[in-house]
Amino acid sequence: MNSLNPNVTAADAAEKQKVWEADRDHFMHPWTDFSTFKETGSMVFTAADGVSIVDADGKRYLDGIGGLWCVNIGYGRKEIAEAVADQICAIPYFSTFGHHTTPPAAKLAAKLADLAPGDLNHVFYGCGGSVANDTAVRLIHFYFNQLGKPTKKQIISRIDGYHGSTYMAMSITGVKFDHVGFDIDQQLVHHISCPNPYRRDPKLSEEEFCRQKVDELEQKILEIGPDKVAAFFAEPILGAGGVIVPPKGYHQATLEVCRKYDVLYVSDEVVTAFGRLGHMFASQDEFGIVPDIITCAKGLTSGYLPLGATIFSDRIYEVISKPQADGAIFTHGFTYSGHPVSCAAALKNIEILEREGVCDHVKDVGTYFEQRIRELGELELVGDVRGRKFMMCLENVADKRTKALLDPRAKVGNRIADACQKRGLIVRPLAHMNILSPTLILTREHVDFIAETLRESILEVTETLR
Ligand code: PLP
Repeated sequence: MNSLNPNVTAADAAEKQKVWEADRDHFMHPWTDFSTFKETGSMVFTAADGVSIVDADGKRYLDGIGGLWCVNIGYGRKEIAEAVADQICAIPYFSTFGHHTTPPAAKLAAKLADLAPGDLNHVFYGCGGSVANDTAVRLIHFYFNQLGKPTKKQIISRIDGYHGSTYMAMSITGVKFDHVGFDIDQQLVHHISCPNPYRRDPKLSEEEFCRQKVDELEQKILEIGPDKVAAFFAEPILGAGGVIVPPKGYHQATLEVCRKYDVLYVSDEVVTAFGRLGHMFASQDEFGIVPDIITCAKGLTSGYLPLGATIFSDRIYEVISKPQADGAIFTHGFTYSGHPVSCAAALKNIEILEREGVCDHVKDVGTYFEQRIRELGELELVGDVRGRKFMMCLENVADKRTKALLDPRAKVGNRIADACQKRGLIVRPLAHMNILSPTLILTREHVDFIAETLRESILEVTETLR
């Protein structure tokens, strides 16, 4: 018997121990601090439903991070399980190389073309966000080669932008901490500064700050040479870099600069698509731009199965689908491009998002969430509360007035996350910050629980810092 849950038996406890040891000894975890992992191992989760996950002791937690910004429709959706099972029984896999397809891959591509803004009517599939961004780079290079502009290859992105963990996507990523100890490509990628209004020079108005950041992009293009710059990669809201919402007008102005120099604009919507901000895609509906390429993953299947997509414009398609002069073909693709089972899960996920009006729900309850989380800005430790709807971040500081950073050794983000976990809430620590990206089906009661639990946890940690 288990004190937390009488249904957890001794056999369950033995199984949990077996899993815990197997994991600690053999599962090389992504994004892990191995200085502590070998001692602490992992928390083992064995079940999930609705907005919650359950650990191997039967303790239930409200999932404040939606798996990893992805379980948009919540857990335990039998409809997805059925769609997946039906597809496995019908045809679990066949290659989509060349002139072969399956119904879910074709139908999903048409659906994404319908949902995406402007003339973004063409979909290339991969297994996740990193691969979607790598695909974008390859498509862009191929596009300019086809156009007879082979020098146009350089990529510009932002400090604190996050674009994934494959070699190229990590090179485009601008979170300096993520590069420590690893190599990145320095021949192709250039980083400009982060449009973070909280850390701007206080002498600048938001408008002046925006202009400064946009000018910086233009200067960087001129410095590298417009004939060499191929693309600008940007998340609408920088997620893993600390949920940074650029100043008003930034997206339109950077797109204009890109247009001026024939630089393609890639909007990385791996986090922001499929409802997180109350829209299927945020580029146009939240920020008023139609980029040349949108990359997406995560909420595309609500994390039920791996899938990513690179969605690009008619203009790009026309160029890259021209027969190549030397008889070569379009040599890019993966065994699992357009995997029918993942595509079936995505189609059902989108059907649920639409049928249940999840975007409208986010506009309502997500706005309430934002408001309740913003209230925490009055706490002594919290320097900035930022984000929109179900994508929020608390930046904890040593001094609210000077915005001085906390000593990283204090691990304040981790301590707040631990204090929340004790109270049945999972939030994500990110250095001195805490990130919230829950499922999109929260009720107002869930929101109140998150806001109150965070408040108690932050106050508890504040006391320990005195
Ligand atoms: N782009 C953004 C904005 C992300 O947040 C992430 C992952 O968090 C990625 C790309 C990489 O996606 P994946 O981990 O599926 O490769």
